[in-house]
Amino acid sequence: MSAPIEEVKGVGPKTAEALKRVNLKTVGDLIYLLPRIYENYQTTVDIADLRPGKVIIKGKIGDLHVVRTSRKRLTITQGVIRDNTGAIRTVWFNQPYRAKQFDEKREYYFTGRYELKNGRYQLTSPSATLAQDVDNNVENGFQPIYSAKSSLKPQTFRKLLDGLRPNFAKIPDLLPFDEGIPDFIKPGARAEALYNSHFPESPEEAEAGRHYLAYEELFELILAAKLNQQENQRLRSNSLPFQQKFIQKLVKGLPFQLTNAQRRATWEILQDLEKSTPMNRLLQGDVGSGKTIVAALAAAQATQNGYQTALLAPTAILATQHFESLQNLFDSLAGDMDELRVPRIALLTGATPHKKMLKRLIANGDVDLVIGTHALLTDDTNFHSLGFCIIDEQHRFGVGQRQKLLLKSPPDTAPHLLSMTATPIPRSLQLTIFGDLDVSIVNELPPGRQPITTKILPEVQQNDELYPKMREILDKGQQIYWICQIIEEKNTHSATPVKKQAKKLAEVFSKVKVGMLHGKMKTDEKDQIMNDFAKNKIQILVSTTVVEVGVNVPNANMIVIQDSEGYGLAQLHQLRGRVGRGDQPASCFLLTTGEGKPSKRLREMEKSTDGFHLAEVDLKIRGPGEIYGAMQHGELDLQVANLSDTELIAQASHHAGEFAKRPEELEHYPELAQRIKKYQQLTTLN
Ligand code: ADP
Ligand code: MG
Repeated sequence: MSAPIEEVKGVGPKTAEALKRVNLKTVGDLIYLLPRIYENYQTTVDIADLRPGKVIIKGKIGDLHVVRTSRKRLTITQGVIRDNTGAIRTVWFNQPYRAKQFDEKREYYFTGRYELKNGRYQLTSPSATLAQDVDNNVENGFQPIYSAKSSLKPQTFRKLLDGLRPNFAKIPDLLPFDEGIPDFIKPGARAEALYNSHFPESPEEAEAGRHYLAYEELFELILAAKLNQQENQRLRSNSLPFQQKFIQKLVKGLPFQLTNAQRRATWEILQDLEKSTPMNRLLQGDVGSGKTIVAALAAAQATQNGYQTALLAPTAILATQHFESLQNLFDSLAGDMDELRVPRIALLTGATPHKKMLKRLIANGDVDLVIGTHALLTDDTNFHSLGFCIIDEQHRFGVGQRQKLLLKSPPDTAPHLLSMTATPIPRSLQLTIFGDLDVSIVNELPPGRQPITTKILPEVQQNDELYPKMREILDKGQQIYWICQIIEEKNTHSATPVKKQAKKLAEVFSKVKVGMLHGKMKTDEKDQIMNDFAKNKIQILVSTTVVEVGVNVPNANMIVIQDSEGYGLAQLHQLRGRVGRGDQPASCFLLTTGEGKPSKRLREMEKSTDGFHLAEVDLKIRGPGEIYGAMQHGELDLQVANLSDTELIAQASHHAGEFAKRPEELEHYPELAQRIKKYQQLTTLN
C-alpha cells in the first residue's frame, strides 16, 4: 500500500507527476480513490417505456441548439434523443458547451431525470457517456464512475485500477480485531471491501464494500481524536486562577447584563483556564449571541494573572471591529479599577502602521491582548508570555495557521485555546471529529433582538414585491445588503455580477448611494467601503460573500441573497446573520431563478432561524464529507462515511475507545498509524 505510485502498471513519468499533483502518491492512495457513484446500465430502458424519475437511455442525439432566455443570464441547451422506439426532448441549463459536445452519428448512454416540465416531458440535465466505452468495459452492466481530478480523466483511474486488480487480494488487514467488534470486521474484509468498491458485480456488492470502508474511516477519525485527547492531557500550560473580585467588577461595569448562556459559558472557560493542562474548548453560538464579550472576560483573567492573550480574526474588518469595541469597553472600565489592571490592547493587521514598534511592545510584554489577522502569525511576531489564544470564526483558519499561533507560547508550555464559531457543529460531528473538544454553547440571544423574517422570492417578481420593500427600508434611513454569487472563470473569480448589479440598483434607487464589495478589491479598499457602510455613507451594499464573516452594522436591516440556490445552508444562515443586529425588525429575501419548487435548503431557511437546528438539517441533506470540508478548508475529506449514520458511529466509537486504552500497540499497526496522522493534525495542540 505504501509503494510509490510509479510502481503501478501503466504509470509513466508524466502520469506519475499528474497523479502526485492531486495528492495520489502511493498505491494505497490510488486504491482509496473510490468511485463517485455507480451506474447500473442493466436498467437502461427504451424511450417508449420511459416512466418519470431517474432513467438511463441509450440513443443518438440531434437537433442541438442553445436558447437564451429573456432574462439573459440563463442559457438553455435543447436536443432530441432518439432510439428505435421513440424520441424525447432533452434540456441542459447553463451548459452551452453541450451543444457542441456530441457526435450526432454515435450512440450514447444518457443518465438523467425524466420529468414533466411546463406541460411537456423531458430528460433534464443528463450526463452522457459514449455507448462504445460502456459496452466494452462493463461487466454485468454495472459500472463505477470516478470523478475527474484536474487533468486526469475518470477513464484513467479506471484503467490504472484495473491493472492493479490481481493485487487486491494481497491488501493486508488494517483494523485491530478486538473483542465486541461488529461481525463484518474479519480477516480479509478490507481487501474484499476495496475490491467490491472498484469492481462490484451488483449494487449490493458495492454497498457492502462501502459499508466496511465507512466504518474504517470513522474508526480512524475517532481513534485519532481519542489519542489526541490523551496527548493533550499530557501537555503543560500555565494555570490562570480565577480572580473573582476582578471578574465581578468587570461584569458589573458592562453596558448590558450578560445572558444566562453567556454567564454559563464564561464560567466554564474561566474554570478551564485555572487548570495546568491546556484548555481546548469550542465556543459555539449563533451569530449575534455575544461570544466576543465571553472571550474578552477570559482574556481579562489571563491579563490579571500576568499572561498575554492573542485574538485571531479572519479579516481585517472583523479584527478592527473587535479592537474598537473592546477598547471602548476596557476604557470605560479602567477608571473604576483602582489597583486592578484592565488589559492593554493592540491591533495588528496587514495595514497597521509602525508594525515593528508594536511587535517590540508585544515581545516585551507591554501589550496584554493582541487582536489581529494573519499578520499575527508571521515569524517575527513574538510574545513575552502568551498564555491564552482565541480564534474567532475558527473554521476560517487551517490547521497550520492554528499551530503557528499556538507555538508562540513560552517553551515547554501550551497556551489555552478557545475557538469560536457561529456555524454550529451537529452533535454527531462533535462526537467524532471533535471527540477531544470541550464545547460551550451560547444558545440564547441578548434580549430585545428583533426577529428576522425570511422569504423565498422568484427573481422575476423583484420589481413588484422586492423593490417596494427596499424603498420602505431606505425611506426609514436604514440600510440593505445585496449578495451576489461570484462566478468562477478560469481559476479566478469574476467581479462582473457585482458591478452589474450595483449599476442596476443605482439606477433603480437613484437617491441613495450604492457601494460595492468583492474579493478582487485590495484590503484597504474593502475596509474603506465597509467603514463607509458602517457609517451609513453607503445605503445599499452590493457584495459577494466577503461580508459573511462577523461584520456588525446594526442599521442594516434587510439582506437580499441573489441566486440563493447556489449556497449551502450554513452559509445562507451566516449571511442572514448580518441583519437583525439592531433594534429594528429585519428581513431576508432569498431570490431564486429556477422554476419549480424551491430546494429543501431554502424552505428550511424560511422556517427556522435557529442555527443549531439548521446545522442538523444540513448534515442530513448533504452527502458525507461536504459539511466539514466547508468548515475547515477541506482538510478533512471524508470519502465514504455518512455522519448521520449514528449506529455505525457508535460501533466505531466503541471499537476505537477500546483500542485507545492501549496506545502503545499502535506501533504494531504502522499503516493505521500513518493513516490517522492526517486526522490527528486537526485537533492537536502541539
Ligand atoms: P457574535 O456571537 O456573533 O460574535 P458579538 O459578540 O459580536 O456576537 O455580539 C453582537 C452584539 O451584541 C454586540 O454589539 C455586543 O455588544 C452585543 N451584546 C453582547 N452581549 C449582549 C448582552 N448580554 N446584552 C445586550 N447586548 C449584547
Ligand atoms: Mg463574532
